[in-house]
Amino acid sequence: MDYEPIRKGDVSGFRVAPNLSDYQKAIDRFQWEDIHSDLDWLDNGKLNIAYEALDRHVNSPVRDKVALYWEGKGGEEEKYTFGDLSRLTNRFANVLTGLGVTKGDRVFTYMDRIPEAFVSLLGALKVGGVIGPLFSAFGPEAVRDRLGDCEGKILVTTPKLVNTIHEILDDLPALESIIIVERGEAGYELKNKEVSYERLMGGASEEFELVATDREDYAIIHYTSGTTGKPKGVVHVHEAIVGHYATAKYVLDLHPDDIYWCTADPGWVTGTSYGIFGPWSNGITQVVYEGGFGASRWYKVIEKYKVSVWYTAPTAIRMLMKAGDEVPKKHDLSSLRYLCSVGEPLNPEAVLWGEKVFGMPFHDNWWQTETGCIKIANYPIQDIRPGSMGRPFMGVTPGILDDNYEKELPPGEEGHLALRAGWPSMFRAYWNKPELYESRFKGGWYITGDKAIKDEDGYFWFVGRADDVINTGGHLVGPFEVESVLVEHPAVAEAGVIGVPDPIAMEVIMAFVSLKDGYEESEELMRDIKKFTRKKLHSVACPRKMKFLPGLPKTKSGKIMRRLLKARELGLPEGDVSTLEE
Ligand code: AMP
Repeated sequence: MDYEPIRKGDVSGFRVAPNLSDYQKAIDRFQWEDIHSDLDWLDNGKLNIAYEALDRHVNSPVRDKVALYWEGKGGEEEKYTFGDLSRLTNRFANVLTGLGVTKGDRVFTYMDRIPEAFVSLLGALKVGGVIGPLFSAFGPEAVRDRLGDCEGKILVTTPKLVNTIHEILDDLPALESIIIVERGEAGYELKNKEVSYERLMGGASEEFELVATDREDYAIIHYTSGTTGKPKGVVHVHEAIVGHYATAKYVLDLHPDDIYWCTADPGWVTGTSYGIFGPWSNGITQVVYEGGFGASRWYKVIEKYKVSVWYTAPTAIRMLMKAGDEVPKKHDLSSLRYLCSVGEPLNPEAVLWGEKVFGMPFHDNWWQTETGCIKIANYPIQDIRPGSMGRPFMGVTPGILDDNYEKELPPGEEGHLALRAGWPSMFRAYWNKPELYESRFKGGWYITGDKAIKDEDGYFWFVGRADDVINTGGHLVGPFEVESVLVEHPAVAEAGVIGVPDPIAMEVIMAFVSLKDGYEESEELMRDIKKFTRKKLHSVACPRKMKFLPGLPKTKSGKIMRRLLKARELGLPEGDVSTLEE
């Protein structure tokens, strides 16, 4: 809290008038129902996310506006209007219907950020399917855990990734068809359960009568990590679009002439809520870049497509900072007018670096897979307190609670960040885990699992996680998942996993491993164990650091004390060790 606030001044000096012009007035008057009239809805109060994102624009001039500028890894360029995407998703909806998909069936995508991923996800929503976007960086176990958990019926993937699926096919009895997007990879031979995207799309009609989903029908599943157990499926309903639309408009401040770039992958909730639904329900043109991070490459994207609103993440910003202030000077970045960030704490230096290099600060905002849309944010009109996540979005009531989740704590005191339950994009379930879902609510509050402080003026400051979940480069990693993979290695007896500080990714994964009798500690064995994890886990979840220990500290009930591993590694006080089994 030691940094001077960044003053915003009068809106007359802004390049465009912000959509949210008076925060206090908006907060005082806001009701979610006010947003309803901005959307089109279906007959009888029904609602479908794909209709709001695409089809409703077909009856307006937005139809011929570019919805998607796509740039491939190799510099390929494609563009699609809202009308194009509406027709393509109709076709895909017909393809799915032909494969027997009906309302409620789970349809997964597992591929890079290619146009077909967007067509598949929105086409699946049109048939009333429940979509599950997966990162292409997932290994076979990660795919199996997710598809297996909610019995995915369809998977859309590419020739490059499909071998992963064949390794685990026996474990996925519910998976009926694998749709292969060949994208010019001529000569691909279809195998067991596989059908060709291109061939089926070629024969499908552009007309489709959208399935009239209810606002409470399940629409999206994103898997997220907890402290224990496998990743859990966070379920959102079609009504979530009300939240996506409103926050994209008032927090990301999207205006009709904007060219917007969200750098997140649809495998993460930011890549769907704000990489598909938020911008497109607002009729906004967006850029999708298939390639990975690279400072020059990213600046080139901004320059080439004249990006005006940019939504990215702290790790990426810190990597850009590391690449230096000279790199952006080689590009014309004058199209930029508004910068936002999410996913991890945004350090004040990064906020200010935006001012120095782009002439405007990064606006941090906070939310989670479970909340479905932004809950706490910095806004164009409000002064920024560097290091703060900002203030609540309209209709959101956050509180800082004591350790029993009973009492709200006064400003300045650290406690559990909770939100008064009930908003359109709130998760409605953890797939098949009703008790776990219920456990997240106490006395009308949703308990976020984060610790925070609220200041006298209602700005929220992130303190840390209340559990062992590790945030590495914006990805949440449950230590248990990594430990489970480590102990599958033939040499590993026990494993304990923690996050240790890193200047770029905030934290990286560190594993402590004890070996089975008969195995010798060696560099080579360590390399082999690391390689083993890379085959099974998402690349970010693989231990970057590793240490052998003769045994791991455990509680008397046999639980590995990660807290103690961390304290010992970082030279911090060990705290209460009364339950330690010596
Ligand atoms: P996920 O559900 O994967 O999007 O992760 C949500 C978690 O990321 C939150 O509970 C926080 O721990 C962290 N997070 C997200 N945004 C922020 C932020 N602006 N500042 C600090 N932590 C954040």
